[in-house]
Amino acid sequence: MSQHYAITMPQLSDTMTEGVVVTWEKQPGDRVERGDIVATVETDKAIMDVEVFKAGYLAGPLADVGATIAVGAALGYITDTAGDVAIAANEVVEEKAQTEMIPHHAGTPIVMPQLSDTMHEGVVVTWEKQPGDAIKRGDIVATVETDKAIMDVEVFQEGWLSGPIADIGSVVEVGHPMGFIVDDASKANDTGVTISTDHKVKDLHKVAPHAADKPAHIPMPKAAPAQVSAAGTQPPVARPQGRQASPYARKVAAQLGVNLTGLAGTGPAGVIVAADVARARPSMAEVAHALPQVDVPGQGRAMTSMEKAVSHAMTASLTLPTFNVTMNIDIAALTAAAKAKKVSVTVAIAKACSVAMAKFPRMNWAYQPVDKLVERANHDFGVAVMSNDGGLVVPILHGIEKRPLEALQSDWTGLVERARVRKLAPAEYSNPTFTISNMGMLGVSHFTAIPTPGISAILAIAANGPQGTPFTITGDHRVLNGADVALYLATLKQTIEAPEAWMAGGAAVAEAVVGKAATVSAAVSPIPEGNWDVSVVIVGGGPGGEDCARDLADHGIKVMMVNNEPFPGGECLWRGCIPSKAWRAAADVIRNRAHDAEMGVDGTNTPALNWAQVEKHRRWVQSSRGDMALKADKGMKIDVREGFGEFVDAHTLKITPAEGEPYTVSFGAAVIATGAPAFVPPIPGARENLATGGVATSDTIWNLATPPKKLGIVGGGVIGVEMAQIFRDFGTEVLMLERNDRILAEIEDEIAKTLIASLEKEITVVTSADIKEVSGKAGAMKLRYANAEGVESTFDCDVVLMATGKRPDTSKLNLDKVGIELDGAAIKVNTRGQTSAPHIYAVGDVIGGYMLAHTAATQGRVAADNLLGHTSEYDQDKDCGVTFSRPQAGFVGLSVAQAKAKGIDAVEAKMPMSIDAKAMITGETEGMIKLVADKASGRIIGVHYLADHTDTLIGIGVMMVAGEMTLTQVAKAIFPHPTQTELFGELARRLLNRLRRTAKK
Ligand SMILES: Cc1cc2nc3c(=O)[nH]c(=O)nc-3n(C[C@H](O)[C@H](O)[C@H](O)COP(=O)(O)OP(=O)(O)OC[C@H]3O[C@@H](n4cnc5c(N)ncnc54)[C@H](O)[C@@H]3O)c2cc1C
Repeated sequence: MSQHYAITMPQLSDTMTEGVVVTWEKQPGDRVERGDIVATVETDKAIMDVEVFKAGYLAGPLADVGATIAVGAALGYITDTAGDVAIAANEVVEEKAQTEMIPHHAGTPIVMPQLSDTMHEGVVVTWEKQPGDAIKRGDIVATVETDKAIMDVEVFQEGWLSGPIADIGSVVEVGHPMGFIVDDASKANDTGVTISTDHKVKDLHKVAPHAADKPAHIPMPKAAPAQVSAAGTQPPVARPQGRQASPYARKVAAQLGVNLTGLAGTGPAGVIVAADVARARPSMAEVAHALPQVDVPGQGRAMTSMEKAVSHAMTASLTLPTFNVTMNIDIAALTAAAKAKKVSVTVAIAKACSVAMAKFPRMNWAYQPVDKLVERANHDFGVAVMSNDGGLVVPILHGIEKRPLEALQSDWTGLVERARVRKLAPAEYSNPTFTISNMGMLGVSHFTAIPTPGISAILAIAANGPQGTPFTITGDHRVLNGADVALYLATLKQTIEAPEAWMAGGAAVAEAVVGKAATVSAAVSPIPEGNWDVSVVIVGGGPGGEDCARDLADHGIKVMMVNNEPFPGGECLWRGCIPSKAWRAAADVIRNRAHDAEMGVDGTNTPALNWAQVEKHRRWVQSSRGDMALKADKGMKIDVREGFGEFVDAHTLKITPAEGEPYTVSFGAAVIATGAPAFVPPIPGARENLATGGVATSDTIWNLATPPKKLGIVGGGVIGVEMAQIFRDFGTEVLMLERNDRILAEIEDEIAKTLIASLEKEITVVTSADIKEVSGKAGAMKLRYANAEGVESTFDCDVVLMATGKRPDTSKLNLDKVGIELDGAAIKVNTRGQTSAPHIYAVGDVIGGYMLAHTAATQGRVAADNLLGHTSEYDQDKDCGVTFSRPQAGFVGLSVAQAKAKGIDAVEAKMPMSIDAKAMITGETEGMIKLVADKASGRIIGVHYLADHTDTLIGIGVMMVAGEMTLTQVAKAIFPHPTQTELFGELARRLLNRLRRTAKK
């Protein structure tokens, strides 16, 4: 039986007796997750968000916008049944939801911290404080078990601990509240909440303050044990006989090869936890204590924990075989430039080290036992700072490679303040990838520093002398050799001595500086050296292959591009983006005429389709672009070959041309960009009728002699929807059948729902359809299917389009001969595009993920960049796409749901197109734009569209997300009136205001 919970008007202040509903942020039927904001209400003080602490579906009757509702009365309901949009008057409503409502005034949430990249949830192990206890900044309030270890949860806000606090053993998602801090002891709430492993609230109950049975404090490692990651794919080891071990502990044990029998467990009731397993591998402390200790006279005092940690790390550094290299660098220009830019010299030097490291990624790697290298692209540099008590603390500047100097400076100011009083959070000092120690300011003329396990190089900067400032790098010889460090220092010298370029102009100019430096140092390209026919061979000439080939050729690399079609362009030009948009353009002209009369122009509403001209125009665009592409490729000295490529061995490709004999070429490195053809599932008659033309795919629909009168489409993805609307505008009757219960599954929920509602006014869509058979002959096809209720029907049509997805087919590439692993049908790659054969990359549709042309092209450029010796990665979180429906749907970056799944506390604001002046003028008022921002940093991490002209408006979203712009920057930007771009400024200001209001509470 369904359960319903009332969402009640929260009491947001002592004086509040009622509130006015301002907006509903969700609609009946929408999925609601714990922590979602469902509505905003106006009180006697301010407008506040109403946040719910119960997962389910929003159901009506909802209080009207503008209605005044008494505190405690229902605003709406949450039900656990999808599709239940209104509960009936006589249905039972559980009382519980009222107490599960957590309005912001409940306090500042203490959220489950994300303590590692792989962590999505954590288990509450202990509460070190109880509701009602006073909290000081820096207090440890709880401990949690992660995939790595048991860690302290430290808070940086004063106040009193308040419930609901998550019970011990509860599994809390990263970013979700475990408890709260209130600013007044009298507001502390003493409830506890039991959260199950699937993150559902199971029970609410009172917590006795300072209960006698307060769980014992569990001893824990001071930091996450190094090299412990449960991200591997090994299955967990079996539970030891007669003992208990946590799932993480068993997974980590499998990865580290640790035998659990005989291991002491420090978890509740002696359970073995991940930290116990990690300890089975020697930690820095154990290595330090394992060395013979020489006694000394005198009465020693115990070291403080910080002194001990330094001592252990330094002794553990004896496991590193190190060497030193020094170069004198003139830092006068950098010092002046830093001053002019109002950034500290330390930050400027850290940025210079990162800029120079783009050419020498090895400097940022680390040795990992046993015989492994951790290749890191993130530049998280530790920079030594003297604390107020005279000790050394090493806070970390994160993301130096991608963040502008100003942002780094603002991070650095906060870090130094906290480091001086030793108040850094674990993430602020754990796991640097490179370290800088500047003792020059203390006047030392030369010194060396000691790298510790986890980094391979440390930079020691001494005082300026007559020959410049000595920069000495001490390197781990297992990772770096002398020449690596010497070349890196030479590039660093160039970077520091010519700072104007990279400091003023950002990445592009920085690249120019590094490029200039590269002329004096050897290129560090990973293309294996040898007497190859070509340095790099690229298999496939679509957007992925062609962009990769062009970037390599541009840098003087000898490239061959093998493509089994006469012209480059791939699916995008010949069977995808370009022809479909040529059809859409004609369909747009027809559709747009419907608005003419509304705007006062009569006589244009009977446009007639000239199919022959549509096709002539489409083919002209395709052949002109194919011709232009081939000429440009050849002009760039890419050796373009028409033929089918397959691997013979790790450095040989066999090419079978359309005409003539097969031949082989040898190559140093290769890039696979062979795309993914349309996939037809084994529905009876579907594959069989491909040859007759009765069934078409996105590969063959282009052969239609005329638009069909009736079209059956199987599959409600982006391609199916685009085709459905094109043909509807051409006058075709369309039936769309979808196996799942919703079409457009890949599109953001609210955008998809709104688009589907609009689509269903034009075409018939049957979801949860069971397609039984496709039969008949071209021009007279029959599509037999059953609907969700099992009722069978037949649709007579001219042609059936199977829009059932695309799937890579690598069966003829002989990948097994070169040791390339697959992930399902797709080629498995890392974020740099590298396959399991390190000198072979794969990009585009053949690696799965977003199957889009610009994604393929970006990945092609990333592969080229890596082959040129730079560390470059594809970041899906900044990718984008447009569905060329009417209105057009579009996305950039993350939705709120995607962000939350990554542990980002994201918020969104939306604006309907119907309030935009320009949209009203042109009659294009359908849809909305949504802005998603990271609450903590204010950065814009996603933009979602349903609007006419999304294909142009999306450029603004792309720049905001790619440039990591903040709400404040966009709010201050000046957008021209009357244009639809004004909405972006409005959205940013709206979201900023909302965040400001909620922060004040
Ligand atoms: C109807 C439709 C509409 C689309 N609309 C859009 C859109 O609006 N926007 C968008 O971004 N994307 C769109 N796409 C997707 C886009 O076409 C693809 O994502 C993109 O083309 C993938 O590029 P690629 O380089 O990975 O592969 P492809 O473009 O498929 O290129 C691969 C090339 O390799 C060749 N090849 C394959 N095997 C071999 C071999 N062994 N030897 C030699 N050559 C080989 C192929 O013949 C082909 O030329 C659409 C797709 C379809 C079907």
